[in-house]
Amino acid sequence: MKTNFNFRLLAGAFAVLSLSACNDDNLETPVQPEQQTENLKIDQPNELEKVCYYVDQYWSSSSVLATSLQNSTDTNFMNSQMTKIASLWGRSNPTLRFVNDPSNVNSTYNAISYSTGKIYYGYAIYYDAKSKGGDIVNAMILAHEYGHQLQYIFGLPSVSESTARPNELEADGFAGYYLRRPNGYNQTTFAQIAAAYEFAQSIGDYQTTSSGHHGTPPQRRSAVRLGFLLGQYDLSASSFDYNFFYYYQGVLNGTYKMGKNTQNPELDAYMSQYMDELRKIQNGEISAEEFKDLQ
Ligand SMILES: [Zn+2]
Repeated sequence: MKTNFNFRLLAGAFAVLSLSACNDDNLETPVQPEQQTENLKIDQPNELEKVCYYVDQYWSSSSVLATSLQNSTDTNFMNSQMTKIASLWGRSNPTLRFVNDPSNVNSTYNAISYSTGKIYYGYAIYYDAKSKGGDIVNAMILAHEYGHQLQYIFGLPSVSESTARPNELEADGFAGYYLRRPNGYNQTTFAQIAAAYEFAQSIGDYQTTSSGHHGTPPQRRSAVRLGFLLGQYDLSASSFDYNFFYYYQGVLNGTYKMGKNTQNPELDAYMSQYMDELRKIQNGEISAEEFKDLQ
């Protein structure tokens, strides 16, 4: 869900491991790695006999790259979601792989989107999400990670800041959009989506207080809400980006841009009904609990 400050430590810790790994597609170094949680262990054992399992420097040294989860139901669910998410945006699938580490289970509490067209999804995050929130949580996490693929492909987000905040908030928006679209996850009530989002947030960025570059909790709620609202319309990735950032001030601070939305005036008429709501999410008038009950 975000770039983690631990990455630099990790990269350093594993820089000595310049050996090629034994699996088949791990030789590229991601330019902008994407990470779900801060739960990474940075003190992995340096057992050289395990280097054969080495995935890359963003996973533990004992991790194994896999094409399946623990059973075919789970695997099929994720693969079908991957197809659905990519095809929603008119794209063929990226490479979806799973990462397992039986000797250090918690080390796979991550999902990483690579600029080289790959998404690596940890066993630990998959099964924790499934047990706590059901399938929709993994669908949302995957859609968020695929949002980063869209950013790599189309050179998004169109807004840049000194931190990853616009990238992360837009990925949240892409996920909210996917969950609503009829040819996506096809959820018509926001309650289910908000529950999934609250889970994703609780395991990811919610506790981050250090640099504040992932968006505050109200901003992330607003970003998911905005993506969900934009799901009323069938948008290309670049059109989604235009509209997401058109209303970005509503996400950041609850204010409404006064200029005209020239690309989608009818969408703007729809969205204007919700600007007050975004403001209330932002200033806390709509609480985290009430957020889940939005229509
Ligand atoms: Zn992310």
